Amino acid sequence: MALFGTNGVRGIANEDINPELAVNLARSLGTYMGSKGTVAIGCDTRISGQMLKSAAIAGALSTGLNVIDVGPVPTPSIQYYVRDFADAGIVITASHNPREYNGIKLIAGDGSEFPRDGEKEIEKIYYSGEFSTVSWEKTGNFKTDPGVNEYYLRSIIKAVNAESIRSRRFKVVADTGCGAGSLTLPFLLRELGCEVLTLGAQPDGTFPWRNPEPTPEALTELSELVKMTGADMGAAHDGDADRIVFMDENGKFINEEILLAMMAKYMLENEKGPIVTPVSSSQRMADIAKDAGVELHWTAVGSINVARKMMEVNAVFGGEGNGGLIFPKHQYCRDGAMACAKILEILAGGKKLSELTESVPEYFNAKTKVPSIDTQTTMERVEFEASELGLKIETIDGIKIRYEDGWVLVRPSGTEPIFRIFAEAKKQGRAEELMQEGLKIVKKAEKASISK
Ligand code: MG
Repeated sequence: MALFGTNGVRGIANEDINPELAVNLARSLGTYMGSKGTVAIGCDTRISGQMLKSAAIAGALSTGLNVIDVGPVPTPSIQYYVRDFADAGIVITASHNPREYNGIKLIAGDGSEFPRDGEKEIEKIYYSGEFSTVSWEKTGNFKTDPGVNEYYLRSIIKAVNAESIRSRRFKVVADTGCGAGSLTLPFLLRELGCEVLTLGAQPDGTFPWRNPEPTPEALTELSELVKMTGADMGAAHDGDADRIVFMDENGKFINEEILLAMMAKYMLENEKGPIVTPVSSSQRMADIAKDAGVELHWTAVGSINVARKMMEVNAVFGGEGNGGLIFPKHQYCRDGAMACAKILEILAGGKKLSELTESVPEYFNAKTKVPSIDTQTTMERVEFEASELGLKIETIDGIKIRYEDGWVLVRPSGTEPIFRIFAEAKKQGRAEELMQEGLKIVKKAEKASISK
């Protein structure tokens, strides 16, 4: 069984993700690191966070690793800290998952997400049960560092034009959903001279205010409050605050693909260089890269793929269409608070958020999903069927079929026996049409692979 999914190890707390797993995963990491070095360990605001963090600390110390307990932190905050002060990191978080979940995610020494091949090695050690255990006098040193979030916020303030933001005295409503961003976002906004109103800003792992996933449906009060108070914008994090979404001054939710494109456009106005995004992202990114005369690199889905490619090509910006934006001058990982500071920097230029969202090209989407008995076999057949039809295909992740006026992406889900079909075009009707084309190909491929 694969231990690591797309985003670390996830499951129901104290059932799938229990102290034993946390101890042994930390022991596996220590074994992998040759019992040498320092690991920073933190958690989000989930109820089981302290329990799992304590177990991970014990496991790491037993292998001889030194441990810095960084307390409750947003994921990008511990990532920034690891880059500067540790050789690896462990963060106990289930990101946007519902309240009963928890998870464990590893961080590489440079602060980026742990590489897949490293995870594979650690998985091997984990299942072998052969952990390094040092003698009594060599168990690791332990200390705490309560200044991690402060350090992270200082660095963000330095990375933007804080003076111009402060001069505008923006009014911002922040909905941190009782998650880890409650510890950072309201204070960042204060430091940037904003008038700050908060919703769900008490750290609370029962998530009494809303689900950790910041969907438009979960943010109706945020929208209302923005309108009611005449705020310049609203901002909302997911549970571990690596992602962020925004409402414009009219309380309108900004589609994350538009957010991504808008930010790419702004970053390229200030510095020319390659940009990076997954194949699932909007064609808006390609239009913006073309207008700026820079290269766009498409990657497989997953923020780690985006971040690694960004390092490789020395990109100026990258991100996903889910509110996960990466600013390489700050760090190579999704960073919600950094994205918020950047949005304020853009607003300080004088335009309203609604005007900025209108400045990116318009596209329409359609999506559906379809069950599959054997996604792998069907996938091979999808490629065959598409090339039989003489279609222009890309196989970076799933199959992306490009047409003159749009595209459709067919991808097997990583966790369920289904295919996801996602289409985009300049007109809504055409997007629906392309989605149907994709669906037809998958159905045909599924039939052929069953009868084989
Ligand atoms: Mg997250």
